[in-house]
Formats: sequence, C-alpha cells, structure tokens
Amino acid sequence: MSNEIRELVIVGSGPAGYTAAIYAARAQLNPVIYEGSVTAGGALMNTTEVENFPGFIDGIMGPDLMDNMRKQAKRFGAELITDDVVEMDLESEIKVIKDGSGNTVKAKAVILAMGSAYREIGLENEKRLSGRGVSWCATCDGFFFRDQTIAVVGGGDSAVEEATFLTKFASKVVLIHRRGELRASKIMQERAFANPKIEMLWDTEVTDVLGAEKVEALELRNTKTGDVSQREFTGLFVAIGHIPRSELVTSSIALDGEGYVKVEGRSTRTNIAGVFACGDLVDHTYRQAITAAGSGCQAALDAEKFLSH
Ligand code: NAP
Repeated sequence: MSNEIRELVIVGSGPAGYTAAIYAARAQLNPVIYEGSVTAGGALMNTTEVENFPGFIDGIMGPDLMDNMRKQAKRFGAELITDDVVEMDLESEIKVIKDGSGNTVKAKAVILAMGSAYREIGLENEKRLSGRGVSWCATCDGFFFRDQTIAVVGGGDSAVEEATFLTKFASKVVLIHRRGELRASKIMQERAFANPKIEMLWDTEVTDVLGAEKVEALELRNTKTGDVSQREFTGLFVAIGHIPRSELVTSSIALDGEGYVKVEGRSTRTNIAGVFACGDLVDHTYRQAITAAGSGCQAALDAEKFLSH
C-alpha cells in the first residue's frame, strides 16, 4: 500500500465518471479514476449512434463519445487505471480503495460512478444459454445472427434501438413486449414500426428459453389471455432496463429499496462525509448520457468544496 494520500478517487468510467474526472482534474485535484478492467466507458460502449448528446449535430457513436471524454480527462491530468475496484473502506476520514491487481489507493474523497448493469429476465435457461444465443448487447453480438430470426425483449428505448440495429444482420427481428404500448421515445418507435424486418409481439412475456446447446425456441405467454406457446428463434436479446451497480458499497452507503445510492437533496453527497455519488447509480428517472455527465460535474464540484474545507 502506498502511503501517499490522494485528494480524490473516482470509481467508474461512464459519462458521469469521466465528466467528474475532467472537472476534478481542471480543479487541480489530481484525480485517480478507476475505469474497470473490461468495461471502461460504461453502457455507451454498447450503443450505436447517440443523436441527442448536445454539441454533435450529426450524432456521434457511443464508443467515440466515451473515447473523447476519456482523452479530455487525460489531457487535464486525470490518472486513468484500467482495473476494477474490489473493496472500499469508506467510513474513515481517509478512504481506502483496493483494486483487482491487489493495489491500494488512499484518498480524502471518493466519487462513486459505477453506473448500472443489464437487468436479466431471471430465467434459469437465460443464464445457461447466455453467450449461446442469449445476449444483452446487440452491437457486440448482432454480427453472429446474420440471416436469422431473432427476438428482442423489452419496450424501452434500448429494446427498440437494439431491434432496429439488429435488422442490419437478421432476416427478421421480433420485438416482444409485455404490454400493448412501448415506453420508447416516439421517434424511435416510428422508425421501428416503419422497418419491414421488425415484427411486434404485444402483450407477451418470455417464460422460458429452449435449446440444449444453443437457443432454438422461446416459450411465450400472452399476458392478457394467459395462453402459452412456443416459437422458433436462434437468438434472444434482453433489453429490459438496468439495475444500479451498488454491490461494492451495500454495507457502508445508504441505498434505497431498489439499490440506488441515496444522495442528500439535489447534491451528490451520500450519508458518508467525503463520499459522493452520481450517474445511473443514483438516477431512477432520467438515465441519459447528458444527465449522467451533468451529475458527474456536480459530484466533482461537491468534492472540490468538501476538500477545500
Ligand atoms: P427502460 O426505459 O426502463 O425500459 C425497460 C423496458 O423493459 C420497459 O418497456 C419494461 O416494460 C420492460 N421490462 C422491465 N422488466 C421486464 C421484465 N422482467 N420482463 C419483460 N419486460 C420487462 O430501460 P431502457 O430501454 O434500457 O432505457 C433506460 C434509459 O436509457 C431510458 O431513460 C432511455 O430513454 C435511455 N436510453 C436512451 C436511448 C437513446 O436516446 N438513444 C437509447 C437507450 C436507452 P414496461 O414498459 O411494461 O415497464
């Protein structure tokens, strides 16, 4: 363990983490940012075009946006560590952060920006056939489903975006939603409805994933009539939202009933002095790249104020 005590450690590298790093680095706090060993860049690394991040008139690819933010943080002197944090002692005045390589960093303040993880349907066979036809990431795995009939489950922006993206490869994409209307934004819905390769399957939930070695079919249940049926598919993309990645801090930081980190009012202050939280880790409602970036900025400003006292 190094005896050096850093001003600030940031955990997480989505728009919230990188924005916090940009602001903190410009404030001369010399932040260390843990980017994650395989997930640097966060959820936007798995998206295609981001059309609504202000400042990019023609849109920008999610990974390019994250790469820009990363480079911007680095330019101002943020120290980027490509590793996972595995343990944190946050309660003492000096926080201790341990990473996956066995290194330990001490700091006066910590910003939590671990984001969220994909929600699973919760079926035993969904897990068993994960990577064998079941996927949570169209941009990562869509290529493997060329000329096949695949299902996407969900009714939000992610599901509609994934379904639309997958039509580049698949011969047919069936969007399965448990209700009779989508939650996704109107512009994305219209695009999907106009796409001849997308079929909507309303009021339907996936109750089982069938196949010995790989996905062969889905068992479906009509949520209105209760009728159960089977339909052949070679792939299932699950896009039913996210859950906050707060597991590292469950024992120390106050969380709400759904596992989101609780913050004080409109600030990013958690229940522990010197620990701040931002991005999808705290956000039930907005969950946009721009709002995550905004709350990353707030966290850096809150941390800067705390450190100056
Ligand atoms: P979301 O908006 O929370 O939607 C989740 C969808 O999954 C809902 O339609 C929900 O159904 C369904 N669902 C949840 N649990 C389910 C279960 N157990 N079984 C079956 N269906 C289930 O999540 P999201 O689509 O990932 O979007 C998250 C946020 O990111 C949103 O704010 C969204 O606007 C944003 N986003 C934006 C873009 C973009 O602008 N390009 C792209 C992706 C995401 P119900 O509708 O019945 O609740």
